[in-house]
Amino acid sequence: MELIDGNQIAATLIAELKAEVATLSGRGPCLALVRVGDDPASVSYVKKKEKTAAEIGVTSRIILPPVTISQTELFKLIDDLNADATVDGILVQSPLPKHIDEVAVFRRVAPEKDVDGFNTLNLGKIAQEDDSGFVACTPAGIVELLARSGTDLKGKHVVVLGRSLIVGKPVALLALQKRAGANATVTICHSATANLPAITRQADVLIAAIGRAEFVTADMVKPGAVVIDVGINRVPDATKKTGYRLTGDVNFATVSPLCSKITPVPGGVGPMTVAMLMKNTVKAHRHRVA
Ligand code: NDP
Repeated sequence: MELIDGNQIAATLIAELKAEVATLSGRGPCLALVRVGDDPASVSYVKKKEKTAAEIGVTSRIILPPVTISQTELFKLIDDLNADATVDGILVQSPLPKHIDEVAVFRRVAPEKDVDGFNTLNLGKIAQEDDSGFVACTPAGIVELLARSGTDLKGKHVVVLGRSLIVGKPVALLALQKRAGANATVTICHSATANLPAITRQADVLIAAIGRAEFVTADMVKPGAVVIDVGINRVPDATKKTGYRLTGDVNFATVSPLCSKITPVPGGVGPMTVAMLMKNTVKAHRHRVA
């Protein structure tokens, strides 16, 4: 079994981006990070994004509206960032408070600054196999992890567990694309899928993105499969200072001995998501200054 080291692959990508940014003259890339309220997970995600941006030479502009901000006010804030010539990329950290329509917010971000890849136009471009847009960071990170760990999807059966707009649907579309590295046969499973283990057992590559701690067990995995664990779940753990530990959607202890390759949690898909956000920001800057 080979462990796919997301930390190491992300570090390589970050070093490549840093080298690319160092060659730029004039205004460097700028990423606006909008965090509404103080959700603890969002606080730590935005901090990590800010830190990685600084490492690469991307300027980040942190905007922290209160949890009480109205949808109209948030739209106005996004409109101002859309119109600001010094901002290349905009990320609105999810989850947003319940009184705000998250999808409407994603649509409000100008497609050419939508480095999170959730705008309708950018999601549509994946279906059209049009590279000019931005692919959502987690699915893009999964594809990059597979490519850089030497997994060609051509002719493989990829089973995606989960059909969210953020992970499941875009990663399935990417694996399906008619291009080098992709060209997979894809099945998407969800909460209404019947006989789930019978389907997951057919997977040459199993991508688990359902948000259920250690849901995928050894009886659901074909020996020799490549397993990508997207899940980030907090499980109570009294032995930890924080009172919890992070675990994936895969039961690593029982599944990993069966796999040819597997991503750990933490240290697998997570670091790639941040690295791909930076890649998208550098791409947005390149498009804007070209
Ligand atoms: P969502 O909750 O939006 O989607 C979960 C999907 O899993 C849904 O399609 C749901 O089905 C399906 N599902 C839930 N329970 C079951 C079940 N028992 N059997 C089969 N399918 C099921 O989650 P996300 O896609 O946003 O995130 C998934 C996981 O990935 C989470 O743990 C999240 O924290 C993590 N994540 C990690 C990232 C990273 O950087 N590593 C980034 C983004 C997410 P249905 O559609 O029928 O409801």
